[in-house]
Amino acid sequence: ESTRIDVVTIFPEYLEPLNVSLVGKARARGRLDVHLHDLRSWTHDVHRTVDDTPYGGGPGMVMKPEPWGEALDAVLAAGPADQVPTLVVPTPSGVPFTQELAQELAARPWLAFAPARYEGIDRRVIEEAATRMPVVETSIGDYVLAGGEVAVLVMVEAIARLLPGVLGNAESHRDDSFAPGAMADLLEGPVYTKPAQWRGREVPEVLLSGNHGLIARWRREQAFARTLANRPDLVGRWQLGGFDKKERAA
Ligand code: SAM
Repeated sequence: ESTRIDVVTIFPEYLEPLNVSLVGKARARGRLDVHLHDLRSWTHDVHRTVDDTPYGGGPGMVMKPEPWGEALDAVLAAGPADQVPTLVVPTPSGVPFTQELAQELAARPWLAFAPARYEGIDRRVIEEAATRMPVVETSIGDYVLAGGEVAVLVMVEAIARLLPGVLGNAESHRDDSFAPGAMADLLEGPVYTKPAQWRGREVPEVLLSGNHGLIARWRREQAFARTLANRPDLVGRWQLGGFDKKERAA
């Protein structure tokens, strides 16, 4: 089965990387059905205007509601008649985009993305859309991009690699940093490949030992150490019960 993805943007060419690598292959294999739409095709003036000055004053411009409204109508009409998409709105003021949210979205058959430019989209567009479909406003991190297209690339890639049949090895996302289960609130530790010696540096001996129990314990220790060093905020979420579960799962 195939996950349908619609993206409405003023820069469809910004989404070109969706043809490359893992996401491109998922499309080629029919796991992802991606439709890009140019927001300006729903403008009706010669300048194809999508923005205007903000009510209440202040710097910057705001995206006009009319083109977005018509674009979302068209997206709704283009997909399966018995379904509505989940509308994903990238915005720095949204809930954090996490591995957990990626999993939740990967389970849905149809996603529509509304990446904005300028200071964002007129609020009424989001409110009106929410009367017709589920809406998720989400941020990919605590910084401000010039537009939401890069955020869409980030999210589609995170979602695509969770779809069944997209990754060569279905197990390979199970041990990722943040993966629900044993890796929840944990970062993955360092990884190594051949040769065993390189520029005078050796691969940690335990990894060559063939002892799966020792290797699992070493990886767990590395994951704890790296999380303590780089993400003390995650350590605050460790719970004794959860810790036990990690021990058992590892
Ligand atoms: N004035 C807005 C604010 O402070 O929340 C910033 C708007 S930003 C210049 C333009 C667009 O880029 C946003 O509407 C959103 O689509 C996208 N964007 C910027 N930063 C983002 C982030 N951290 N996560 C997701 N989308 C982001």
